[in-house]
Amino acid sequence: MNQLSDIKSRALFERAQKIFPGGVNSPVRAFGSVKRTPFMVSHGSGPYLWDVDGNRYVDFINSWGPLVLGHANERVVAAIAEQSARGTSFGACCGLETDLAELIQTFFPSMEMLRFVNSGTEAGMSVIRLARGFTGRNKIVKCNGCYHGHVDSLLAKAGSGVATLGIPGCAGVPEAFVRDTIVTRFNSVSEVEALFAQQGETIAAFILEPVCGNAGLIKPDAEYLQAARALCTQHGAVLIFDEVMTGFRVDLTGAQGLYGIIPDLTMLGKVIGGGLPVGAFGGRRDIMQCLAPLGPVYQAGTLSGNPLAMAAGLATLQAWTESGVFDSVASRTADFIAQFQKTADTAGVSLQTEVCGTMFGFFFSSKPVRCYEDACNTNGEKFIQFFNSALERGVYFAPSAFEAGFISLAHDEAVLNAVIDITGEIFSSTTF
Ligand code: PLP
Repeated sequence: MNQLSDIKSRALFERAQKIFPGGVNSPVRAFGSVKRTPFMVSHGSGPYLWDVDGNRYVDFINSWGPLVLGHANERVVAAIAEQSARGTSFGACCGLETDLAELIQTFFPSMEMLRFVNSGTEAGMSVIRLARGFTGRNKIVKCNGCYHGHVDSLLAKAGSGVATLGIPGCAGVPEAFVRDTIVTRFNSVSEVEALFAQQGETIAAFILEPVCGNAGLIKPDAEYLQAARALCTQHGAVLIFDEVMTGFRVDLTGAQGLYGIIPDLTMLGKVIGGGLPVGAFGGRRDIMQCLAPLGPVYQAGTLSGNPLAMAAGLATLQAWTESGVFDSVASRTADFIAQFQKTADTAGVSLQTEVCGTMFGFFFSSKPVRCYEDACNTNGEKFIQFFNSALERGVYFAPSAFEAGFISLAHDEAVLNAVIDITGEIFSSTTF
């Protein structure tokens, strides 16, 4: 295995550790679960990241999903530069917000009205308050392994970094805040039916990632989403699809378009900000009209609808939704994952792969993974070995088995074929 030079990264990370808890501003970046010091990024371009020691990596994280066009895409960079010369924040109404909202709405018609916020977490916090305000009920049903941002009441069994770090719940979240959060197994129709049968009258909302991307990548059974829709309608609860990760990723119309299920409220983020901080939530007009200033549910933000973020989001979505672009990246993703699976099969490595649009996931396991509980029973040690072997060869997968992978327009066939050669080499080595 090559030994990457990491002198500058180590020095910078030492400085960072003195000032940031764990050296990071978001926990998974610390690389703790893959047992190595993180590299420090110098810059990105197209499908690649470079670290401060000059090592280049094919990046399958793409800032955890947003960068559908790759790093430093020239259209996005130009849009940000142009807007920044006109002002970076107004705290007042600006047509760019409506331009982006209308474009989003053409792909997510269920969002009859929407509102921009600054992160997926804020979108999660806001939809929960809104659903409670609208229904006058308190209970929220969520799925084990689904992550909706670090919102107090939604951190129960939250997947993503919470799963990566093995944190069962979260210190600092008062018992009272999670008393009304009910956790159910993803893909289990019988469990959620039983829950609604017992407590339906008190449930404000059922929130889920319709395709789960925070416990690795786990697709739903179509019947599961149909059951979620039917139960919410029957019991007067709000069905919330968290499409922060899946929006414009699994399909241009999100998981709701892909599976043909219309939620009452939708959360978006990541792609719609083109790499700048954005979130959004929206849905049925009668529910959204409960928000201030029209209704009694308060929600606000100094930087919400920030013009730089709106410009980056617009440039990204305009390029990403051009005819044929999404389909070609999705088909490249499917081919890549088929090849990846083949290299494992050829080497006799037990690997489960999944692909949905331009997202992918993999587990070292001989059994299919249908829910978070299954994901916890896969081979974590093999994952760590694979992650480190790939990184040493210049390929950067997410540093946790509980995260999805992302492919961008910039990941062309040549880049992906080179990665397949590398993964084949890793799987067939005698030490793997
Ligand atoms: N919802 C989902 C499905 C996510 O994947 C994430 C973040 O990864 C969030 C919400 C929270 O978004 P943010 O990190 O922008 O707060």
